[in-house]
Amino acid sequence: MAEKNKTKKRALQLTKAEKIRIGQIATDVLRDLYPDAVCSLDSSGDPWRLLIMARLSAQCTDARVNEVSRELFSRFPTPEALAAGELDEIERIIKPCGLYRVKAKNIRDESAMLVERFGGVMPNTMEELLSFPGVGRKIANLILGDVYGIPGIVADTHCIRICGRLGFYEETLRDPVRVERILSEIIKPEEQSAFCHRIVLFGRDFCRARSPRCDECPLSFVCAHIKAAKTAEASKAAEAENKRNMSQKA
Ligand code: SF4
Repeated sequence: MAEKNKTKKRALQLTKAEKIRIGQIATDVLRDLYPDAVCSLDSSGDPWRLLIMARLSAQCTDARVNEVSRELFSRFPTPEALAAGELDEIERIIKPCGLYRVKAKNIRDESAMLVERFGGVMPNTMEELLSFPGVGRKIANLILGDVYGIPGIVADTHCIRICGRLGFYEETLRDPVRVERILSEIIKPEEQSAFCHRIVLFGRDFCRARSPRCDECPLSFVCAHIKAAKTAEASKAAEAENKRNMSQKA
């Protein structure tokens, strides 16, 4: 039985060339579906604002972050202003985003660091962005790609889930750094930022975490998740048929 499962698993594994081919198909299909997809955080191309909004978006919807940020940036329009802001006031403004105490402290500290270490100008290298406390590769790649046009995979929860289902790696993989490394070799650099924005919309419309709409999905013809489900269904049916034949013979 273990050997049978291993064989089935192997049959569903894609070669590097197949992954690149499917990656290109997914890129094209998503571009057709969502030609104008942009980051749903409305930072107006300002990297400092994008950093702050990305930090506020943890466990909060992007729509709420956009709403809250309007008041936040009208009260504190620059890194200098936010760095000098009263914690109580920042907390009050961002409260609807949740985890407001820790978020208020983080965004004020990051603004202060930006002013003190970088003269108020957001850096444009991965290494420097990662030097901000709490900033990981996901936020760094978002800023690099959206503001500076430097390619990068934003391995957020939607991207990780959907690309696993498409067969680029094991569906159970949840490590964003490994996902980023794998996808960087599959999705063309010039497509990476837009691909990641589009896949968020695709996750909302089709490939939801629960109950994905596989029957209507425009990527079902290349999806490993669907192929695996069909293979499992077929072998279950064959097994049932076998049992029926055996009991008729007995
Ligand atoms: S076929 Fe289903 S699992 Fe595969 S990408 Fe589409 S919605 Fe997701």
